[in-house]
Amino acid sequence: MTELADYRKFYIDGAWVEPAQASDLEVIDPSNEEPFAVISLGAQADTDRAVAAAKAAFPAWAATPPAERLAHVERILKIYQKRSNDIGDAITSEMGAPTSMSREDQAGSGSFHIETFVDEFRKFEFIRPLGDHAPTSMVAWEPIGVVGLITPWNWPMNQVTLKVIPALLAGNTVVLKPSEIAPISSMVFAEVIDEAGLPKGVFNLVNGDGAGVGTQLSTHPDVDMISFTGSTRAGIAITKAAADSVKKVALELGGKGANIVFADADDKAVKRGARHCFYNSGQSCNAPTRMLVERSAYEAAIETAREVAEKTAVASAHDEGAHIGPVVSKQQWDKIQGLIQAGIDEGARLVAGGPGLPEGVNRGYFVRPTVFADVTPDMTIATQEIFGPVLSIIPFDTEEEALEIANDTIYGLTNYVQTQDGKRRNRLARALKSGMVETNGVGRGRGAAFGGVKASGRAREGGVWGIEEFMDSKQISGWDADAE
Ligand code: NAD
Repeated sequence: MTELADYRKFYIDGAWVEPAQASDLEVIDPSNEEPFAVISLGAQADTDRAVAAAKAAFPAWAATPPAERLAHVERILKIYQKRSNDIGDAITSEMGAPTSMSREDQAGSGSFHIETFVDEFRKFEFIRPLGDHAPTSMVAWEPIGVVGLITPWNWPMNQVTLKVIPALLAGNTVVLKPSEIAPISSMVFAEVIDEAGLPKGVFNLVNGDGAGVGTQLSTHPDVDMISFTGSTRAGIAITKAAADSVKKVALELGGKGANIVFADADDKAVKRGARHCFYNSGQSCNAPTRMLVERSAYEAAIETAREVAEKTAVASAHDEGAHIGPVVSKQQWDKIQGLIQAGIDEGARLVAGGPGLPEGVNRGYFVRPTVFADVTPDMTIATQEIFGPVLSIIPFDTEEEALEIANDTIYGLTNYVQTQDGKRRNRLARALKSGMVETNGVGRGRGAAFGGVKASGRAREGGVWGIEEFMDSKQISGWDADAE
Protein backbone atom coordinates (compact mmCIF):
# COMPACT_ATOMS: atom_id res chain seq x y z
CA MET A 1 0.00 0.00 0.00
CA THR A 2 1.29 3.50 -0.79
CA GLU A 3 2.10 5.66 2.18
CA LEU A 4 -0.64 8.03 3.27
CA ALA A 5 0.06 11.76 3.08
CA ASP A 6 0.33 12.93 6.69
CA TYR A 7 -1.93 15.88 7.49
CA ARG A 8 -2.38 15.12 11.18
CA LYS A 9 -1.44 18.58 12.46
CA PHE A 10 -3.70 21.59 13.01
CA TYR A 11 -2.88 25.20 12.24
CA ILE A 12 -3.27 27.21 15.45
CA ASP A 13 -1.80 30.55 16.50
CA GLY A 14 0.42 30.80 13.43
CA ALA A 15 1.99 27.33 13.68
CA TRP A 16 1.38 23.71 12.72
CA VAL A 17 0.69 21.91 16.01
CA GLU A 18 0.10 18.34 17.16
CA PRO A 19 -3.47 17.46 18.17
CA ALA A 20 -4.13 17.17 21.91
CA GLN A 21 -4.76 13.45 21.47
CA ALA A 22 -4.29 11.03 18.58
CA SER A 23 -7.48 10.43 16.60
CA ASP A 24 -6.71 9.50 13.00
CA LEU A 25 -9.15 9.60 10.13
CA GLU A 26 -8.20 8.33 6.69
CA VAL A 27 -9.30 10.38 3.71
CA ILE A 28 -10.67 8.21 0.90
CA ASP A 29 -10.22 8.81 -2.83
CA PRO A 30 -13.69 8.13 -4.29
CA SER A 31 -12.29 7.19 -7.71
CA ASN A 32 -10.61 4.06 -6.31
CA GLU A 33 -12.00 3.69 -2.75
CA GLU A 34 -8.41 3.82 -1.38
CA PRO A 35 -7.24 6.05 1.48
CA PHE A 36 -4.61 8.54 0.31
CA ALA A 37 -4.15 10.85 3.31
CA VAL A 38 -4.70 10.92 7.06
CA ILE A 39 -5.93 13.76 9.25
CA SER A 40 -6.71 14.08 12.95
CA LEU A 41 -10.16 14.62 14.39
CA GLY A 42 -9.86 17.42 16.92
CA ALA A 43 -10.94 17.23 20.54
CA GLN A 44 -12.39 19.92 22.82
CA ALA A 45 -8.86 20.91 23.88
CA ASP A 46 -7.89 21.60 20.25
CA THR A 47 -11.01 23.67 19.63
CA ASP A 48 -10.43 25.61 22.87
CA ARG A 49 -6.82 26.27 21.90
CA ALA A 50 -7.79 27.57 18.44
CA VAL A 51 -10.64 29.72 19.80
CA ALA A 52 -8.33 31.16 22.48
CA ALA A 53 -5.75 32.05 19.81
CA ALA A 54 -8.42 33.71 17.66
CA LYS A 55 -9.81 35.60 20.66
CA ALA A 56 -6.38 36.89 21.64
CA ALA A 57 -5.64 37.99 18.07
CA PHE A 58 -8.97 39.76 17.54
CA PRO A 59 -8.39 43.22 19.11
CA ALA A 60 -5.20 43.92 17.16
CA TRP A 61 -6.57 42.51 13.88
CA ALA A 62 -9.82 44.48 14.21
CA ALA A 63 -7.76 47.62 14.83
CA THR A 64 -5.48 46.98 11.83
CA PRO A 65 -6.21 49.59 9.15
CA PRO A 66 -8.41 48.13 6.39
CA ALA A 67 -5.73 48.87 3.79
CA GLU A 68 -3.31 46.64 5.69
CA ARG A 69 -5.85 43.83 5.96
CA LEU A 70 -6.41 44.21 2.23
CA ALA A 71 -2.66 43.96 1.58
CA HIS A 72 -2.60 40.67 3.51
CA VAL A 73 -5.43 39.32 1.37
CA GLU A 74 -3.74 40.45 -1.83
CA ARG A 75 -0.70 38.45 -0.73
CA ILE A 76 -2.95 35.45 -0.02
CA LEU A 77 -4.34 35.80 -3.56
CA LYS A 78 -0.87 35.71 -5.16
CA ILE A 79 0.18 32.63 -3.20
CA TYR A 80 -3.19 30.97 -3.77
CA GLN A 81 -2.75 31.41 -7.51
CA LYS A 82 0.74 29.89 -7.30
CA ARG A 83 -0.66 26.88 -5.37
CA SER A 84 -3.91 26.67 -7.33
CA ASN A 85 -3.10 23.38 -9.11
CA ASP A 86 -2.06 21.77 -5.80
CA ILE A 87 -5.44 22.80 -4.39
CA GLY A 88 -7.22 21.48 -7.49
CA ASP A 89 -5.38 18.15 -7.32
CA ALA A 90 -6.21 17.78 -3.62
CA ILE A 91 -9.89 18.32 -4.49
CA THR A 92 -9.67 15.66 -7.22
CA SER A 93 -8.38 13.12 -4.71
CA GLU A 94 -10.62 14.06 -1.79
CA MET A 95 -14.01 14.46 -3.49
CA GLY A 96 -13.65 13.18 -7.05
CA ALA A 97 -13.99 16.24 -9.28
CA PRO A 98 -12.04 15.48 -12.49
CA THR A 99 -8.58 17.04 -12.79
CA SER A 100 -9.28 19.80 -15.28
CA MET A 101 -12.60 20.71 -13.67
CA SER A 102 -10.95 20.69 -10.24
CA ARG A 103 -8.15 22.96 -11.31
CA GLU A 104 -10.22 25.36 -13.41
CA ASP A 105 -13.59 25.47 -11.69
CA GLN A 106 -13.12 24.16 -8.15
CA ALA A 107 -9.75 25.75 -7.34
CA GLY A 108 -10.49 28.54 -9.84
CA SER A 109 -13.62 29.56 -7.94
CA GLY A 110 -11.36 30.34 -4.97
CA SER A 111 -9.19 32.86 -6.82
CA PHE A 112 -12.31 34.33 -8.42
CA HIS A 113 -13.86 34.94 -5.00
CA ILE A 114 -10.67 36.36 -3.49
CA GLU A 115 -10.28 38.76 -6.44
CA THR A 116 -13.92 39.81 -6.26
CA PHE A 117 -13.71 40.47 -2.51
CA VAL A 118 -10.59 42.56 -3.03
CA ASP A 119 -12.52 44.71 -5.54
CA GLU A 120 -15.55 45.03 -3.26
CA PHE A 121 -13.48 45.77 -0.19
CA ARG A 122 -11.69 48.65 -1.95
CA LYS A 123 -15.10 50.33 -2.31
CA PHE A 124 -16.37 49.33 1.12
CA GLU A 125 -17.59 52.22 3.28
CA PHE A 126 -17.13 51.44 6.95
CA ILE A 127 -19.18 54.42 8.02
CA ARG A 128 -22.08 55.77 6.00
CA PRO A 129 -24.63 58.57 6.53
CA LEU A 130 -28.15 57.38 7.31
CA GLY A 131 -29.69 59.97 4.98
CA ASP A 132 -30.27 63.69 4.44
CA HIS A 133 -33.26 63.64 6.81
CA ALA A 134 -30.94 62.90 9.79
CA PRO A 135 -27.64 64.72 9.18
CA THR A 136 -25.83 63.51 12.32
CA SER A 137 -26.94 59.89 12.08
CA MET A 138 -24.39 57.39 10.83
CA VAL A 139 -24.21 53.66 10.29
CA ALA A 140 -20.85 52.12 11.14
CA TRP A 141 -19.83 48.58 10.09
CA GLU A 142 -17.74 46.67 12.61
CA PRO A 143 -16.29 43.16 12.86
CA ILE A 144 -18.18 40.61 14.94
CA GLY A 145 -15.29 38.88 16.73
CA VAL A 146 -14.24 35.23 16.62
CA VAL A 147 -15.98 33.46 13.75
CA GLY A 148 -16.29 29.68 13.38
CA LEU A 149 -16.43 28.54 9.76
CA ILE A 150 -17.84 25.09 8.98
CA THR A 151 -17.67 23.97 5.35
CA PRO A 152 -18.86 21.03 3.17
CA TRP A 153 -17.08 18.69 0.74
CA ASN A 154 -18.82 19.40 -2.55
CA TRP A 155 -17.18 22.73 -3.50
CA PRO A 156 -14.48 22.80 -0.83
CA MET A 157 -12.47 25.86 -1.84
CA ASN A 158 -15.43 27.81 -3.15
CA GLN A 159 -16.92 27.61 0.35
CA VAL A 160 -13.68 28.19 2.24
CA THR A 161 -12.81 31.36 0.31
CA LEU A 162 -16.39 32.68 0.46
CA LYS A 163 -16.07 32.58 4.25
CA VAL A 164 -12.43 33.04 5.25
CA ILE A 165 -11.65 36.02 2.99
CA PRO A 166 -14.57 38.34 3.82
CA ALA A 167 -14.39 37.36 7.50
CA LEU A 168 -10.74 38.41 7.63
CA LEU A 169 -11.23 41.55 5.51
CA ALA A 170 -14.01 42.62 7.86
CA GLY A 171 -11.61 42.40 10.80
CA ASN A 172 -12.70 39.12 12.40
CA THR A 173 -10.43 36.28 13.42
CA VAL A 174 -11.44 32.76 12.39
CA VAL A 175 -11.38 29.08 13.21
CA LEU A 176 -12.02 26.99 10.09
CA LYS A 177 -13.34 23.44 10.34
CA PRO A 178 -13.44 22.02 6.83
CA SER A 179 -15.38 18.90 5.92
CA GLU A 180 -13.65 15.84 7.37
CA ILE A 181 -14.47 14.07 4.10
CA ALA A 182 -12.58 16.59 1.93
CA PRO A 183 -10.12 18.38 4.23
CA ILE A 184 -6.89 18.28 2.22
CA SER A 185 -7.53 21.29 -0.04
CA SER A 186 -8.11 23.30 3.14
CA MET A 187 -4.78 22.10 4.53
CA VAL A 188 -3.09 23.44 1.39
CA PHE A 189 -5.09 26.64 1.84
CA ALA A 190 -3.73 26.90 5.41
CA GLU A 191 -0.22 26.56 3.94
CA VAL A 192 -1.07 29.48 1.66
CA ILE A 193 -2.19 31.57 4.66
CA ASP A 194 0.95 30.57 6.55
CA GLU A 195 3.16 31.66 3.66
CA ALA A 196 1.27 34.97 3.45
CA GLY A 197 2.44 35.71 6.99
CA LEU A 198 -0.78 36.78 8.70
CA PRO A 199 -0.43 37.80 12.35
CA LYS A 200 -0.56 34.81 14.70
CA GLY A 201 -4.02 33.59 15.64
CA VAL A 202 -5.93 35.49 12.94
CA PHE A 203 -6.55 32.28 10.96
CA ASN A 204 -6.76 28.86 12.62
CA LEU A 205 -7.74 25.46 11.27
CA VAL A 206 -8.88 22.47 13.31
CA ASN A 207 -10.05 19.33 11.54
CA GLY A 208 -12.87 17.33 13.00
CA ASP A 209 -16.36 15.99 12.50
CA GLY A 210 -19.75 17.55 13.12
CA ALA A 211 -20.37 15.84 16.45
CA GLY A 212 -16.92 16.92 17.67
CA VAL A 213 -15.28 20.16 16.53
CA GLY A 214 -18.43 21.29 14.65
CA THR A 215 -20.53 21.17 17.81
CA GLN A 216 -17.71 22.50 19.98
CA LEU A 217 -17.49 25.60 17.80
CA SER A 218 -21.28 26.04 17.65
CA THR A 219 -21.61 25.92 21.43
CA HIS A 220 -18.39 27.74 22.32
CA PRO A 221 -18.97 30.81 24.54
CA ASP A 222 -16.03 32.66 22.92
CA VAL A 223 -17.21 32.14 19.34
CA ASP A 224 -19.36 35.11 18.26
CA MET A 225 -20.62 33.82 14.92
CA ILE A 226 -20.89 30.58 12.99
CA SER A 227 -20.96 30.64 9.22
CA PHE A 228 -22.04 27.25 7.94
CA THR A 229 -22.52 25.64 4.55
CA GLY A 230 -23.86 22.12 4.35
CA SER A 231 -27.00 20.10 4.84
CA THR A 232 -30.24 21.50 6.20
CA ARG A 233 -30.07 18.81 8.90
CA ALA A 234 -26.74 20.12 10.22
CA GLY A 235 -27.86 23.75 9.80
CA ILE A 236 -30.78 23.11 12.14
CA ALA A 237 -28.52 21.34 14.67
CA ILE A 238 -26.03 24.23 14.59
CA THR A 239 -28.75 26.86 15.05
CA LYS A 240 -30.02 25.03 18.14
CA ALA A 241 -26.50 24.47 19.49
CA ALA A 242 -25.65 28.15 19.00
CA ALA A 243 -28.79 29.43 20.72
CA ASP A 244 -27.56 29.30 24.32
CA SER A 245 -24.61 31.57 23.57
CA VAL A 246 -26.72 33.85 21.30
CA LYS A 247 -24.31 33.73 18.37
CA LYS A 248 -25.00 35.05 14.95
CA VAL A 249 -25.57 32.03 12.67
CA ALA A 250 -25.36 32.32 8.87
CA LEU A 251 -26.57 29.27 6.95
CA GLU A 252 -26.10 28.18 3.35
CA LEU A 253 -28.01 24.90 3.00
CA GLY A 254 -29.42 22.52 0.43
CA GLY A 255 -31.52 23.13 -2.65
CA LYS A 256 -33.92 21.55 -5.13
CA GLY A 257 -33.79 24.02 -8.00
CA ALA A 258 -36.56 24.14 -10.59
CA ASN A 259 -35.67 24.88 -14.21
CA ILE A 260 -38.82 26.07 -15.96
CA VAL A 261 -38.54 25.47 -19.70
CA PHE A 262 -41.23 27.05 -21.88
CA ALA A 263 -41.93 25.95 -25.45
CA ASP A 264 -40.33 29.18 -26.75
CA ALA A 265 -37.04 28.56 -24.93
CA ASP A 266 -33.83 28.77 -26.95
CA ASP A 267 -32.83 25.49 -28.60
CA LYS A 268 -29.92 24.88 -26.18
CA ALA A 269 -32.02 25.30 -23.02
CA VAL A 270 -32.73 21.63 -22.30
CA LYS A 271 -29.19 20.50 -23.11
CA ARG A 272 -27.78 23.27 -20.92
CA GLY A 273 -30.11 22.37 -18.04
CA ALA A 274 -29.33 18.64 -18.17
CA ARG A 275 -25.58 19.28 -18.33
CA HIS A 276 -25.81 21.66 -15.41
CA CYS A 277 -27.67 19.00 -13.42
CA PHE A 278 -24.91 16.41 -14.05
CA TYR A 279 -22.03 18.87 -13.53
CA ASN A 280 -19.85 18.02 -10.49
CA SER A 281 -21.70 14.66 -10.54
CA GLY A 282 -24.82 16.47 -9.38
CA GLN A 283 -23.18 17.57 -6.14
CA SER A 284 -24.06 21.26 -6.23
CA CYS A 285 -26.64 22.85 -3.97
CA ASN A 286 -27.80 25.07 -6.87
CA ALA A 287 -28.16 22.20 -9.37
CA PRO A 288 -31.31 22.49 -11.55
CA THR A 289 -32.57 19.02 -10.62
CA ARG A 290 -36.26 19.49 -11.41
CA MET A 291 -36.82 20.31 -15.06
CA LEU A 292 -40.35 21.60 -15.57
CA VAL A 293 -41.25 21.50 -19.28
CA GLU A 294 -44.26 23.00 -21.08
CA ARG A 295 -46.39 20.15 -22.39
CA SER A 296 -45.93 20.93 -26.11
CA ALA A 297 -42.13 20.70 -25.75
CA TYR A 298 -42.16 17.83 -23.26
CA GLU A 299 -41.37 14.71 -25.32
CA ALA A 300 -38.63 16.51 -27.29
CA ALA A 301 -37.06 17.67 -24.01
CA ILE A 302 -37.04 14.12 -22.65
CA GLU A 303 -35.27 12.94 -25.79
CA THR A 304 -32.63 15.68 -25.53
CA ALA A 305 -32.05 15.00 -21.83
CA ARG A 306 -31.67 11.28 -22.60
CA GLU A 307 -29.03 12.10 -25.23
CA VAL A 308 -27.13 14.33 -22.80
CA ALA A 309 -27.18 11.62 -20.11
CA GLU A 310 -25.96 8.97 -22.53
CA LYS A 311 -23.19 11.24 -23.81
CA THR A 312 -22.02 12.21 -20.31
CA ALA A 313 -18.92 10.09 -19.76
CA VAL A 314 -18.20 8.86 -16.23
CA ALA A 315 -14.58 8.05 -15.37
CA SER A 316 -11.83 8.38 -12.79
CA ALA A 317 -11.33 11.90 -11.51
CA HIS A 318 -7.61 11.44 -12.21
CA ASP A 319 -8.19 11.14 -15.97
CA GLU A 320 -7.97 14.25 -18.13
CA GLY A 321 -11.14 15.27 -19.93
CA ALA A 322 -14.62 16.67 -19.67
CA HIS A 323 -16.22 13.60 -18.07
CA ILE A 324 -17.81 13.54 -14.62
CA GLY A 325 -16.14 11.74 -11.72
CA PRO A 326 -17.54 9.62 -8.91
CA VAL A 327 -19.69 10.93 -6.09
CA VAL A 328 -17.86 11.65 -2.88
CA SER A 329 -18.39 8.60 -0.67
CA LYS A 330 -19.96 5.20 -0.23
CA GLN A 331 -22.57 6.80 2.01
CA GLN A 332 -23.60 9.26 -0.72
CA TRP A 333 -23.53 6.49 -3.35
CA ASP A 334 -25.87 4.35 -1.24
CA LYS A 335 -28.21 7.30 -0.63
CA ILE A 336 -28.38 8.14 -4.35
CA GLN A 337 -29.02 4.48 -5.27
CA GLY A 338 -31.89 4.41 -2.79
CA LEU A 339 -33.41 7.55 -4.31
CA ILE A 340 -33.07 6.22 -7.88
CA GLN A 341 -34.85 3.06 -6.73
CA ALA A 342 -37.56 5.19 -5.08
CA GLY A 343 -38.10 6.94 -8.42
CA ILE A 344 -38.64 3.59 -10.13
CA ASP A 345 -40.83 2.21 -7.33
CA GLU A 346 -43.03 5.31 -7.25
CA GLY A 347 -43.73 5.04 -10.99
CA ALA A 348 -41.51 7.64 -12.67
CA ARG A 349 -40.42 6.75 -16.23
CA LEU A 350 -36.69 5.84 -16.29
CA VAL A 351 -35.34 7.38 -19.48
CA ALA A 352 -31.57 7.01 -19.00
CA GLY A 353 -29.17 5.58 -16.44
CA GLY A 354 -30.63 3.85 -13.41
CA PRO A 355 -29.31 1.94 -10.41
CA GLY A 356 -25.89 0.32 -10.15
CA LEU A 357 -22.42 1.16 -11.40
CA PRO A 358 -21.87 2.35 -14.98
CA GLU A 359 -20.97 -0.43 -17.41
CA GLY A 360 -17.40 -1.72 -17.12
CA VAL A 361 -16.80 -0.14 -13.72
CA ASN A 362 -16.26 -2.29 -10.64
CA ARG A 363 -14.85 0.11 -8.11
CA GLY A 364 -15.14 3.78 -7.23
CA TYR A 365 -18.36 5.54 -6.23
CA PHE A 366 -19.60 6.09 -9.77
CA VAL A 367 -23.24 6.84 -10.55
CA ARG A 368 -24.92 6.52 -13.96
CA PRO A 369 -26.24 9.87 -15.25
CA THR A 370 -29.95 9.28 -14.78
CA VAL A 371 -33.06 10.91 -16.22
CA PHE A 372 -36.60 10.36 -15.02
CA ALA A 373 -39.68 11.63 -16.89
CA ASP A 374 -43.36 11.73 -15.82
CA VAL A 375 -42.24 12.77 -12.36
CA THR A 376 -45.03 14.13 -10.19
CA PRO A 377 -44.36 16.86 -7.63
CA ASP A 378 -45.12 14.58 -4.69
CA MET A 379 -42.59 11.86 -5.62
CA THR A 380 -39.53 11.41 -3.41
CA ILE A 381 -37.19 12.29 -6.30
CA ALA A 382 -39.06 15.57 -6.77
CA THR A 383 -38.93 16.60 -3.14
CA GLN A 384 -35.62 15.34 -1.72
CA GLU A 385 -32.21 16.72 -2.54
CA ILE A 386 -30.47 13.79 -4.30
CA PHE A 387 -26.96 15.27 -4.65
CA GLY A 388 -26.15 12.95 -7.54
CA PRO A 389 -26.44 13.13 -11.36
CA VAL A 390 -30.19 12.55 -11.41
CA LEU A 391 -32.62 14.73 -13.38
CA SER A 392 -36.39 14.68 -12.80
CA ILE A 393 -38.58 15.96 -15.65
CA ILE A 394 -42.09 17.20 -14.86
CA PRO A 395 -44.63 18.44 -17.46
CA PHE A 396 -46.79 21.57 -17.00
CA ASP A 397 -49.58 23.26 -18.94
CA THR A 398 -49.66 26.85 -17.69
CA GLU A 399 -47.28 29.42 -16.23
CA GLU A 400 -49.30 29.43 -12.99
CA GLU A 401 -48.97 25.67 -12.67
CA ALA A 402 -45.20 25.83 -13.32
CA LEU A 403 -44.81 28.50 -10.65
CA GLU A 404 -46.82 26.49 -8.16
CA ILE A 405 -44.73 23.34 -8.74
CA ALA A 406 -41.45 25.28 -8.62
CA ASN A 407 -42.33 26.91 -5.30
CA ASP A 408 -43.75 23.71 -3.79
CA THR A 409 -40.53 22.74 -2.00
CA ILE A 410 -39.01 23.36 1.40
CA TYR A 411 -35.94 24.77 -0.37
CA GLY A 412 -35.39 28.13 -2.04
CA LEU A 413 -31.86 28.50 -3.37
CA THR A 414 -31.71 28.93 -7.17
CA ASN A 415 -34.48 28.62 -9.73
CA TYR A 416 -34.07 28.88 -13.48
CA VAL A 417 -36.37 30.15 -16.26
CA GLN A 418 -35.99 29.54 -20.00
CA THR A 419 -38.20 31.61 -22.31
CA GLN A 420 -37.76 34.25 -25.03
CA ASP A 421 -40.62 36.25 -23.50
CA GLY A 422 -38.94 38.97 -21.44
CA LYS A 423 -42.09 39.96 -19.56
CA ARG A 424 -42.64 36.37 -18.50
CA ARG A 425 -39.01 36.01 -17.44
CA ASN A 426 -39.22 39.11 -15.26
CA ARG A 427 -42.60 38.10 -13.82
CA LEU A 428 -41.31 34.66 -12.83
CA ALA A 429 -38.01 36.01 -11.55
CA ARG A 430 -40.02 38.05 -9.04
CA ALA A 431 -42.56 35.34 -8.19
CA LEU A 432 -40.19 32.42 -7.60
CA LYS A 433 -39.39 31.92 -3.92
CA SER A 434 -35.62 31.61 -3.94
CA GLY A 435 -32.54 33.66 -3.17
CA MET A 436 -31.44 33.52 -6.81
CA VAL A 437 -33.13 33.22 -10.20
CA GLU A 438 -31.06 32.66 -13.33
CA THR A 439 -32.67 32.98 -16.73
CA ASN A 440 -31.77 31.85 -20.26
CA GLY A 441 -28.35 30.53 -19.17
CA VAL A 442 -27.04 33.96 -18.15
CA GLY A 443 -24.86 33.57 -15.05
CA ARG A 444 -25.09 35.98 -12.12
CA GLY A 445 -22.77 38.93 -12.63
CA ARG A 446 -19.47 39.42 -10.81
CA GLY A 447 -20.17 40.84 -7.36
CA ALA A 448 -23.60 39.19 -7.03
CA ALA A 449 -24.26 37.36 -3.78
CA PHE A 450 -25.05 33.66 -3.40
CA GLY A 451 -27.72 32.54 -0.97
CA GLY A 452 -31.23 31.30 -0.44
CA VAL A 453 -34.48 31.51 1.49
CA LYS A 454 -36.57 28.96 3.41
CA ALA A 455 -34.78 25.65 4.19
CA SER A 456 -31.88 26.70 1.95
CA GLY A 457 -30.79 29.11 4.70
CA ARG A 458 -30.66 32.88 4.49
CA ALA A 459 -26.97 33.74 4.41
CA ARG A 460 -25.58 35.89 1.59
CA GLU A 461 -22.08 35.06 0.41
CA GLY A 462 -20.03 36.97 -2.14
CA GLY A 463 -20.08 40.60 -3.15
CA VAL A 464 -20.62 43.45 -0.72
CA TRP A 465 -23.38 41.45 1.03
CA GLY A 466 -20.84 38.72 1.71
CA ILE A 467 -18.64 41.22 3.56
CA GLU A 468 -21.50 42.77 5.51
CA GLU A 469 -22.56 39.25 6.56
CA PHE A 470 -19.43 39.14 8.75
CA MET A 471 -20.05 42.54 10.33
CA ASP A 472 -22.41 44.20 12.78
CA SER A 473 -23.96 47.52 11.87
CA LYS A 474 -23.85 50.17 14.56
CA GLN A 475 -26.35 53.04 14.47
CA ILE A 476 -24.86 56.32 15.73
CA SER A 477 -26.54 59.71 16.29
CA GLY A 478 -25.01 63.10 17.05
CA TRP A 479 -21.99 62.37 14.85
CA ASP A 480 -19.67 65.33 14.47
CA ALA A 481 -18.60 65.33 10.83
CA ASP A 482 -16.40 68.41 11.38
CA ALA A 483 -14.35 66.53 13.98
CA GLU A 484 -13.28 63.92 11.46
P1 NAD B 1 -23.03 18.15 6.16
O1 NAD B 1 -24.05 19.05 6.71
O2 NAD B 1 -23.08 16.73 6.51
O3 NAD B 1 -21.58 18.65 6.56
C1 NAD B 1 -21.15 19.98 6.32
C2 NAD B 1 -20.17 20.38 7.39
O4 NAD B 1 -20.86 20.45 8.62
C3 NAD B 1 -19.03 19.40 7.62
O5 NAD B 1 -17.87 20.15 7.91
C4 NAD B 1 -19.49 18.60 8.82
O6 NAD B 1 -18.44 18.06 9.57
C5 NAD B 1 -20.23 19.65 9.60
N1 NAD B 1 -21.29 19.17 10.47
C6 NAD B 1 -22.12 18.10 10.29
N2 NAD B 1 -22.98 18.00 11.32
C7 NAD B 1 -22.70 19.03 12.17
C8 NAD B 1 -23.24 19.45 13.42
N3 NAD B 1 -24.25 18.80 14.00
N4 NAD B 1 -22.70 20.54 14.01
C9 NAD B 1 -21.68 21.21 13.45
N5 NAD B 1 -21.13 20.85 12.27
C10 NAD B 1 -21.63 19.77 11.63
O7 NAD B 1 -23.10 18.43 4.59
P2 NAD B 1 -22.20 17.82 3.44
O8 NAD B 1 -22.72 16.45 3.22
O9 NAD B 1 -20.76 18.03 3.70
O10 NAD B 1 -22.56 18.82 2.24
C11 NAD B 1 -23.63 18.62 1.41
C12 NAD B 1 -24.77 19.56 1.73
O11 NAD B 1 -24.32 20.92 1.68
C13 NAD B 1 -25.87 19.49 0.74
O12 NAD B 1 -27.11 19.46 1.38
C14 NAD B 1 -25.71 20.76 -0.08
O13 NAD B 1 -26.86 21.18 -0.73
C15 NAD B 1 -25.22 21.71 0.92
N6 NAD B 1 -24.52 22.82 0.29
C16 NAD B 1 -25.09 24.06 0.30
C17 NAD B 1 -24.47 25.12 -0.31
C18 NAD B 1 -25.10 26.49 -0.29
O14 NAD B 1 -24.39 27.44 -0.45
N7 NAD B 1 -26.36 26.62 -0.09
C19 NAD B 1 -23.25 24.96 -0.92
C20 NAD B 1 -22.67 23.69 -0.92
C21 NAD B 1 -23.33 22.63 -0.29
